Amino acid sequence: MKTLVVEDDPIQRRILEASLRSAGHDVRVAANGEEAWALINEERIRLVITDWMMPDIDGLELIRRIRGTDLPGYTYVILLTAKDGQDDIIDGLRGGADDYLTKPFDPRELQARHAIGGRIVRLEERLSASQEELRRLAMYDGLTGLFNRRTIQEHAEAELDRVARGSGPLSLALVDVDHFKSINDRHGHLTGDSALRLIGGILTAQLRSYDWAGRWGGEEFLAVFPGTNIEEGVGMAERLRAAIAARPLSLPDRAVVEVRASFGVSGAASGTACDLDTLVREADAALYRAKREGRDRVCVHRLDAGADDRDRLAS
Ligand code: GH3
Ligand code: MG
Ligand code: MG
Ligand code: MG
Repeated sequence: MKTLVVEDDPIQRRILEASLRSAGHDVRVAANGEEAWALINEERIRLVITDWMMPDIDGLELIRRIRGTDLPGYTYVILLTAKDGQDDIIDGLRGGADDYLTKPFDPRELQARHAIGGRIVRLEERLSASQEELRRLAMYDGLTGLFNRRTIQEHAEAELDRVARGSGPLSLALVDVDHFKSINDRHGHLTGDSALRLIGGILTAQLRSYDWAGRWGGEEFLAVFPGTNIEEGVGMAERLRAAIAARPLSLPDRAVVEVRASFGVSGAASGTACDLDTLVREADAALYRAKREGRDRVCVHRLDAGADDRDRLAS
């Protein structure tokens, strides 16, 4: 954790620096507010000990800038001042200082107040790390590491807005693992989980950088191909299907589990308003047909869909 000392008086600056260094802190020094502000913007400074009275940018102005900028993480500021009037101290704290120290300072008090700052900064770091973790958990599927249903829905809906505005077509594929229940039944649930992870890895590896894939639920996945018309979407789905079929799951006991999946593809033409529910329903109907026709295949939704599809759509 870097501490920045800002002090225009060279002797005071050296005393502060030496005192903090002797306690083992990682210290940067600045001789004025300008230098300090430049350092704060270049490096990840977490704790600032700043003099108040300095030419140009003084301590309070420096604090105002720190508080007014969206720096990564909280910056804890101790204001160091010869002013010790009650009003000055209140002004400093109101101006955004976390703490203050009056000159001449007792090095032990400096250490103690620095330690308080260190605790606050570490607390804030832990808090933002757990927020980041929560954000990650809310976005991704825990088993496969793919986007979860909510995230893929958000992304797909944003893509469909662009399609409606005429940015290009979009196609998507609903993927369902074939006879997955029997993989679970024969090899156990953990092997089933490994098969889902394997498929997740294959989807991630095969998709282009602008495609999306997520776990739709259970043993179903949704892949979204922006800028791709329905024929191209079928091509993408066929590529994914072949990649899954080519990669059996190897078990620790050297047994090999064949994994297959069926695909239902649907799409929206550029400039058409189409909601995700409709597209997924159409893909699901095509998927149902792929299952009926023998699995391990790609079927596409057509407006002249057969009776199976219509039955499915009506149910
Ligand atoms: P079909 O070819 O018709 O799709 O047959 P299927 O056996 O894949 O379909 P079914 O819907 O009967 O079974 C899906 C199974 O997927 C049932 C459920 O227990 C299993 N499953 C769902 N989520 C998970 C999971 O996270 N891990 C494991 N191991 N199994 C799961
Ligand atoms: Mg000064
Ligand atoms: Mg299913
Ligand atoms: Mg299935």
